Amino acid sequence: MPELPELEILKDELKRHVLGRRVRELIVPQDKAGDCPVPHWKDALENARITDVERRGKMLVVHLDSGFSLVIHLMMVGQLLLSSLYDGTPSDVRLTLVFDSDQLTLGQVHLKFIRVVPTHKIDELPEVSKLGHDPLEEGFDAGLLADVLAGRRGKIKSFLLDQRFLAGIGNTYADEILFAARMTPTRIASSLTDPEIKGLHESIVQTLNRGLELGGSSEMAFVHLDGVKGAFQEQFRVKSRTGLPCFVCGTPVERVSIGGRGTYFCAKCQK
Ligand SMILES: [Zn+2]
Repeated sequence: MPELPELEILKDELKRHVLGRRVRELIVPQDKAGDCPVPHWKDALENARITDVERRGKMLVVHLDSGFSLVIHLMMVGQLLLSSLYDGTPSDVRLTLVFDSDQLTLGQVHLKFIRVVPTHKIDELPEVSKLGHDPLEEGFDAGLLADVLAGRRGKIKSFLLDQRFLAGIGNTYADEILFAARMTPTRIASSLTDPEIKGLHESIVQTLNRGLELGGSSEMAFVHLDGVKGAFQEQFRVKSRTGLPCFVCGTPVERVSIGGRGTYFCAKCQK
């Protein structure tokens, strides 16, 4: 699933390429519309100009001068493609924003994960109002992480995935973060010492930035607006490496299930 780095990349690309554009038409294929209020969406989006694009956790929010915003969650395999950058034919298109000279398509995600809401009500959406701290926000430091960890009796892996605590980290980055921190995923969140919290904080920031620098993870379907894949998956140190030797110590990487999520780690390096 696209996580913070992948959504951050798409946010930046959308800001670079579609900011200020006017939506001439919204196209939703009738057989994909489901229960979506498409006429309302058309009223809110058509002839409106894109004024800003934000990321909230793992969601993209596209603001328009109509006073409405389009909230997009790509779920597991959603893709956004811009026709002026992408040569191919987008697959399973669910929604298209037609601009004067090109168009933005959203594919491979059910439209029930898309919302069009008045911009001033974004913060009231349940999926937004419950979001915790963004690890890339100014002020996210080890002290703040310590505050969020305090009293949390669950496993650190589950803590990292819980969007109410930290927003944007998912199953891929959580495993890579814990390997970078040399911390076993079953550690109880509230048991971390101050030096461990400092190390975890550094690992969170560095791993997410590493994902950004490598263009995101395309282990699944994530692509940039031009259809190009990221390369972070080529540098996974534990994720999806069951049985392969740890790059640090040579011990085979293990996979366990934590909170129902596949979790990869090195039993020797991570304590
Ligand atoms: Zn190891």
